[in-house]
Amino acid sequence: MSEALVFRRVRALDPAGALDAEVDVVVEGDRVTRVGPGAGQGLTQGERVRVVERAGAWLLPGLVDIHAHLREPGGEGAEDVASGLRAAAAGGFVDVCCMPNTRPVNDSRVVTEMLVGKARALGTIRLHPIGAITVGQKGEQLAEMADMKAAGAVAVSDDGRCVTSSHVMRRALEYASTFDLPLIQHAEDHALTEGALMHEGAVSTKLGLRGWPRVAEDIIVARDLLLAEYVGARYHVAHVSTMGAVRLVREAKARGVAVTAEVTPHHLLLTHEALLGYDAGCRVNPPLREPEDVEALRRALADGTIDCVATDHAPHGVLAKQVELAQAAPGVIGLELCVPLLLGLVREGVLPLSRWIDALTAAPARVVGLEPPRIRDGARADLVLVDPRARWTIDPARLLGKSHNTPFAGRAVEGRVLMTVCEGRIVYGEDPVKETP
Ligand SMILES: [Zn+2]
Repeated sequence: MSEALVFRRVRALDPAGALDAEVDVVVEGDRVTRVGPGAGQGLTQGERVRVVERAGAWLLPGLVDIHAHLREPGGEGAEDVASGLRAAAAGGFVDVCCMPNTRPVNDSRVVTEMLVGKARALGTIRLHPIGAITVGQKGEQLAEMADMKAAGAVAVSDDGRCVTSSHVMRRALEYASTFDLPLIQHAEDHALTEGALMHEGAVSTKLGLRGWPRVAEDIIVARDLLLAEYVGARYHVAHVSTMGAVRLVREAKARGVAVTAEVTPHHLLLTHEALLGYDAGCRVNPPLREPEDVEALRRALADGTIDCVATDHAPHGVLAKQVELAQAAPGVIGLELCVPLLLGLVREGVLPLSRWIDALTAAPARVVGLEPPRIRDGARADLVLVDPRARWTIDPARLLGKSHNTPFAGRAVEGRVLMTVCEGRIVYGEDPVKETP
């Protein structure tokens, strides 16, 4: 007997299809087969039906994260493919791209194949490796991008490190564009940030800590945009954090340069003042900036200058994080907290709901060339059910990822992922009620 999954009387939202209506959404096999009022009623006799009915819930296309660190291979104490994908599914994601700064670095077909194979065997959500730009992420010799692409890589990046040499960057842009792979830059002039623990500004001065000036990001973005324009290649800026970088991306887009950009939840929500208590949990790279940067990032996300949100999920074990600021590994977890943290931006009027959904679904999918999740007849059934009104308090101990490093512990939030469906399978959430029509 075949089985159907029916979301009954949900508010289905898919901005790409101008859908915002209270409807039934029917999933059969790995596809959405019907969308419309009462669509769940006319199912074939003999078909078993599983019904999900939650008053006030939203059904959205599955979320896409193009920037996560899953730590495998080499850092499995902090996270691995299985735990990372479990956390991602709990966060509403159906596609996750993992950065190559592992041990060993993913600069080869072998590591890319291993990651893809592990994820497939788990049968949960989809994992897409990002290959290194340079061998060992050393910034010198270009990695075998064609091999990595053949094995499933969707982009290249030396994330964690910046490609500093202009010559290497030029060749990398040319080489990546030959294979139609987006190049993702971690924009940091390392010569300007050596020994830096936080943003360079009034707070770093007050605390007597070495700062990471905005200009270290802006210089790289400016140079890269010139190079990308010169060689006619696509270029993506990871975790934009400064108002200067926003301005540069905006100007380049207006000129027609093929640039895209992402921003993290923490850069949209926190400023350098979070470090006033020397809180190691707030050490991130790039660092938390000033209120005017946050303002610029929010406006840029709203108007599309910044295309999408990416979590930069960076799990670290207790030993790497519960230490003094100077010894702390930079980064915070992001996959499970993205929806509840960022829904506040919609309630505050920073982002229209349709743009919020786009920035977490279709827009990131477009950046790396994935099929954007959609809610319509015939679409692959990649869906997330959200209760936008659920109030809860973030308790890191209850998260599913292996690491709990978040500066948002104890924060009261509103909005919760109830269920995630990937290719028609429930990969997170409760088992629905079974009915036979
Ligand atoms: Zn980075």
